[in-house]
Amino acid sequence: MQEHQTIYNAKAYSAASATSPLASSNINRRGPGDRDVQIEILFCGICHSDLHLVRNEWSKVMPTVYEIVGRVTQVGSGVTKYKPGDLAAVGCLVDSDRTCPHCKAGKEQACPNQVLTFNGPDRHLGGVTYGGYSDSIVVDEHFVLRVPSNLNLAGAAPLLCAGITTYSPMRHWGVGKGKKVGVVGLGGLGHMAVKFGRAFGAHVVVFTTSPGKKEDALRLGADEVVVSSNAAEMKKHAGSFDFILDAVSADHDINAYLNLLARDGNLTLVGAPAKPLSVASFALIMGRRSLSGSNIGGIAETQEMLDFCGTHKITADVEVIPIQKVNEAYERVIRSDVKYRFAIDMASLRSE
Ligand code: NAP
Repeated sequence: MQEHQTIYNAKAYSAASATSPLASSNINRRGPGDRDVQIEILFCGICHSDLHLVRNEWSKVMPTVYEIVGRVTQVGSGVTKYKPGDLAAVGCLVDSDRTCPHCKAGKEQACPNQVLTFNGPDRHLGGVTYGGYSDSIVVDEHFVLRVPSNLNLAGAAPLLCAGITTYSPMRHWGVGKGKKVGVVGLGGLGHMAVKFGRAFGAHVVVFTTSPGKKEDALRLGADEVVVSSNAAEMKKHAGSFDFILDAVSADHDINAYLNLLARDGNLTLVGAPAKPLSVASFALIMGRRSLSGSNIGGIAETQEMLDFCGTHKITADVEVIPIQKVNEAYERVIRSDVKYRFAIDMASLRSE
């Protein structure tokens, strides 16, 4: 713990082990330092990564994500961008070294010394960072984002993870007018990718394992929907995509999608199944196709994405739940039974 560091007690929900349900608890938070912003958390999204992590499915790697929006309650004396009463948001990162080439390029998501919002090394109090299932959080202002005031706050929370994770690779690979874009898996990430693809002016095709999601996919902005178990429908799209975003959380056949790419097409993985995927080399060699991955986004790009959402009135489709239903919500995420993101209303924690 750093010298002169004050501490306060915050209410939270946490899991004691990979097999325990989340339950009410208390955690230590640091009191705001000079450059810190204290935020009363109003809504926090539930990402599938929360489940991978709480259930220890990613035991060899430890990325995690958080989607927090709230209102500023206190700021340190050196804070210039925020004041009490402002709306503010925090995503997956709360710190980085700020000196490495990635940080200098505004790509903090690649910094080797990044501190994640949950389970990162807490440089102030020691131990680990505790994430967003809590009534408040204290974060250095560099990692605090501004939320456009016209957006619904519950629907804005998932933008901090599902939003930036899909926006960033779509921008990087030039998704726009005249491009044919596939989105695999209509979940929290996938439904945001559909909204962005539409807003960027691309032709969007959704691939789903759930026939019951067809109408939703069209309503969300897809031009076409393919049920991936239908071989004839899949074949019709062979060799035709400029870009495919794969947002599937579980093991699946990635070669079926590589074969749908046009020459020089790219498939970017954002989904993070625990088991390694097997890739057929010929699916890549033929047509100089590429396979890549993408991890959330940097702070500047996250702000750009939030501003884009403000201009285009884009938020996630959310089901708002009290925190007492978080364990039930996890089971429903596993069954793909959520349209399309849970957002926890933190007033339910405050009133416990
Ligand atoms: P989600 O809401 O649970 O959506 C995942 C979707 O994958 C489901 O809705 C389903 O879509 C499809 N799916 C599920 N099981 C499947 C199976 N066995 N075979 C084929 N398709 C299946 O999850 P999410 O929150 O969007 O997260 C998706 C993945 O991205 C997770 O692995 C998460 O950890 C990862 N993630 C990565 C980053 C990053 O920075 N790269 C950031 C956040 C999350 P259909 O019903 O339409 O088939």
